[in-house]
Amino acid sequence: MTTPAQAPACPICNGFGVLEKPDGQLVACACREPERILARARGAHIPDRYRSCSLATFNGIHESQKAAKALAQRFVAAYPAVESGLLITGPAGVGKTHLAVAILAELVESKFVRGLFCDFTDLLERIQATYTPGSDENADEILEPCRETELLILDELGARRPTDWARDVLYGLLNTRYNRRRLTVITTNFGDQASQPGAETLEMRVGTPVRSRLAEMCVLVPMTGPDYRREVRPARLFS
Ligand SMILES: [Zn+2]
Repeated sequence: MTTPAQAPACPICNGFGVLEKPDGQLVACACREPERILARARGAHIPDRYRSCSLATFNGIHESQKAAKALAQRFVAAYPAVESGLLITGPAGVGKTHLAVAILAELVESKFVRGLFCDFTDLLERIQATYTPGSDENADEILEPCRETELLILDELGARRPTDWARDVLYGLLNTRYNRRRLTVITTNFGDQASQPGAETLEMRVGTPVRSRLAEMCVLVPMTGPDYRREVRPARLFS
C-alpha cells in the first residue's frame, strides 16, 4: 500500500510562499497565486452556482448575445480604462447574470480587481432586517461595501416590485457610486420597451430618477434569445 504522494514543495520558495527581494522586502511567491485568486473570488461573494461562469463558457446563439459577449470581452480587456458600467437587460435565461459574473470573475483573476456581487433583492432584505429590534447590524454597514467596492454587480434589479423606500435606497447607492466614479454592472429583466403589451418598462419599475442615473452610468446591453434553462440545457440527473 502506498500513501498519496504529497505535492512537492515549490522549488522557488521551498514551500514558504514568500520570497525575499535583494532589498529585504518580502513578496508573495507566484506559487500562491491560485490561493489568492480563490480568496479574492470568495471576497467578491460570487454565488456557488455561478462559480464556473466565464466569458469562455458563455455561448450565446442570438446576435444580441454574441454582441453582448464581445462587449464584455472589450470591457475586461480595457479595464480599468473604462468609462461606464453596463446595464444588461433581457428576459430570464438569456445569460445576463452569467455574463455579469464572468466580467467580475475575470477581472478579479487577471487584474486583481476588488469587486462585489450583490443580488438586489437580498440586499434590500438584509437592510430591512436591520430595522428589527435587536439587530446587530445597521443599514450603513451593509450598504458601505456596495457603495465603495471598485466594481459592483447588481443582479436582478427590479425583480421584486420596488417600494418608494427601495427606490430611494437604490438611488442613493447609485448616486454615491456615480460620485465616487465607481463602475457598476447591472442585470435586469426589464428593458426600455415593454416585453409585451401592458408589461412594465425598467423606468416604470425603478422610477425616472434611477433610470436617468443609470443612463449616465451604464452602457445599455440588451440581450434576447432562447431561455437556456428551458430550451437549451434541460435539467439532467447525471452529468
Ligand atoms: Zn513558491
